[in-house]
Amino acid sequence: MRESDVKIVFTKFFPKRFRIYSKLKILNTLKYFPELKNIKRINVGYTSFGGTFYLGKSDEKTISIGVNQRTSMHIIAHEFTHYIQYFQKEIRDFGFKIPEVRLFYLKEIPKGEKACEIYTYARHKDLVGDFGYFGTLKGIKKEIIHIAAKKAIEKRNIENHRNYIKFFEKEIIR
Ligand SMILES: [Zn+2]
Repeated sequence: MRESDVKIVFTKFFPKRFRIYSKLKILNTLKYFPELKNIKRINVGYTSFGGTFYLGKSDEKTISIGVNQRTSMHIIAHEFTHYIQYFQKEIRDFGFKIPEVRLFYLKEIPKGEKACEIYTYARHKDLVGDFGYFGTLKGIKKEIIHIAAKKAIEKRNIENHRNYIKFFEKEIIR
């Protein structure tokens, strides 16, 4: 449906044999971000580990990321969330109208890696990875992490809780 209107453009350094697989993974991850429907292009560079978001190469219609064939949906989603952290002004009004993501746009989305993780986990349990800025999460059910992250953002955006990051950490330790 929306796949046709976003162009995935690989840099010449991205190994050809991994392109189709990586493209599918990126498009699959994008489905969890309905508010990014105006994105016209995703530039994909090759990075030897993890994932990267390139702020200077992104704009309101373009997301530039670096990934490799092992990069998980969690990390791709994390890089998309970085995009939202920096370009939220442009997508806020639209995001606010979409019930599934409205919660995120009730207040300004904070910058930072831990914020980025919580907002990524809160989106969907499929986007929870085994490892991230909260250390290893292996052994904790993805559903639990997802719910804790959503609750933390509700605390922040609805109840004006002062430290939603601490709240999240406590929730997953229990
Ligand atoms: Zn990051």
